[in-house]
Amino acid sequence: MLRVGIRNKVSPSLLIPQWTCRLSSSDAAEHDDPPFFGMVEKFAKKAEDIIVEKMTSRDKEERDSERRQRKVTGVFDLIRPCNNVLQIAFPLRRDNGELNTIFGWRAQHSHHRSPTKGGLRYSLDVSEDEVKALAALMTYKCAMVDVPFGGAKAGIQIDPLQYTERELEKITRRFTMELAKKGFIGPGTDVPAPDMGTGEREMSWMADSYAMTFGHGNINAYACCTGKPIPQGGIHGRTSATGRGVFYSIRSFISDADYCSQINTTPGVSGKTFIVQGFGNVGLHSCRYLCRHGAKLIGVMEKDGSIWNEEDGIDPKELEDYKLENKTIVGFPKAAATTKNLLEEQCDILVPAAGEKQITTENAHRIKAKIIAEGANGPITPMADRILQENNVLVIPDLYANAGGVTVSYFEWLKNLNHVSYGRLTFKYEKDSNYFLLDSVQKSLEAKFSSGQAGSIPIIPSPDFQSRIAGASEKDIVNSGLEYTMERSAKQIMRAVKEYDLGLDVRTAAYICALQKIYNVYIAAGITF
Ligand code: NAD
Repeated sequence: MLRVGIRNKVSPSLLIPQWTCRLSSSDAAEHDDPPFFGMVEKFAKKAEDIIVEKMTSRDKEERDSERRQRKVTGVFDLIRPCNNVLQIAFPLRRDNGELNTIFGWRAQHSHHRSPTKGGLRYSLDVSEDEVKALAALMTYKCAMVDVPFGGAKAGIQIDPLQYTERELEKITRRFTMELAKKGFIGPGTDVPAPDMGTGEREMSWMADSYAMTFGHGNINAYACCTGKPIPQGGIHGRTSATGRGVFYSIRSFISDADYCSQINTTPGVSGKTFIVQGFGNVGLHSCRYLCRHGAKLIGVMEKDGSIWNEEDGIDPKELEDYKLENKTIVGFPKAAATTKNLLEEQCDILVPAAGEKQITTENAHRIKAKIIAEGANGPITPMADRILQENNVLVIPDLYANAGGVTVSYFEWLKNLNHVSYGRLTFKYEKDSNYFLLDSVQKSLEAKFSSGQAGSIPIIPSPDFQSRIAGASEKDIVNSGLEYTMERSAKQIMRAVKEYDLGLDVRTAAYICALQKIYNVYIAAGITF
């Protein structure tokens, strides 16, 4: 028993542009509970309009300007909609013998790059609109951080806490088979990863199901998903990558004196207070890196309760251990339980790391944080975003702030295709070279200053050099690649803010960067008008 539906949009490269076609869902998003996909469209549309204005204003001849405008908006009309959406319904025989119907979706937003890439979410809130929106965000996110994938997302409409491990394994494996049958998973076509409610365990079931069936005989089969455990081809640093990336995104902006003066704060992470909503993968690791660099965690919100300790701060490691043991943060002995809405409490940095549409026109004007770093996808509605800007709140947007996960997923995918771990070929060579270098410097100095007497001028490596002398491990390479990516992307965004005079509208700047890159791919692919 199975129900499958696929809605295909014609491949962008085959479409004849519909000049007059404008998307109605964006317009419908005028009130503040827009469909999530409409929300992403609205953010993208704002950036598109700015790009179109800038590109077309260069043309002196009015006729040329009109033609160019049609061409540019035509490409954006191709980029914006979701290419394919697959809906799946299948039966699950539960451990107690009951029969359930399970609903799931996979959306592939854009094929301007292959494969498409995006997480798999288990939550009761999952819907077609949600996966489409998250897939669209993935397209812009990948472009923002120069990861050469199109955007995709999957979701299954379940509360994973209500199912046994055996049931979750059955659901994941069956869903993988359904994706494979329809060409919605594969190392070169579409590559899922963990998201809310899923992690290494689910990716391990998914990779195994694919590799043992449809991927049989394909040497790259395990590259069909990322976020896998290490023995299955996973990569060191993937689990913490999104939170680490959130930290780099905050550090990039809070180190810039211009932004700090706009939001009336001092540069640097150290000494800043912060609050996190959602203490899962992204929330926990964001906390770890912020605290490691001297920030103080004063409040944590979870779906079953919130905790607060402004005086001493909350240790993320202790809270993680408590949550692992008790399956909740409620009752954590080193913080007080609170019923306050912590989104609205005074702090320097707020990290929403749970669901979408958490900050709306209802509460945006009560937000007291100076910086909001969007660990979650889509936590702020477009109208709330406007209010926050008016109130001088710096929002570091999702398509950049939480792009660390897909960046390291890209590294994992490359590792799987290369069939060798990072550092494996160079590790010993680098270590030997470093020792040869020290030895050579020592011998030269001894020859010059002590007639070549061995050991008379010992060369002692500095602590920093000593820690790197043994060569770069996979973890070192991944972490430095991630840091480089996040810092470089921050610079691109800051340049766009300046070029388009966007003030604190960092989100629009990030969309502009992403859209320009996607536009260039379409143009280079020879879209003709
Ligand atoms: P997760 O399932 O590991 O953690 C989510 C946490 O949020 C859970 O502890 C859950 O109990 C809590 N939560 C749910 N609803 C809440 C609410 N209303 N208030 C407070 N807490 C709530 O999920 P995750 O992987 O950390 O993902 C969180 C967000 O980050 C999602 O929006 C996801 O799309 C985004 N994201 C995740 C990744 C990744 O690599 N995992 C990458 C990019 C973006």
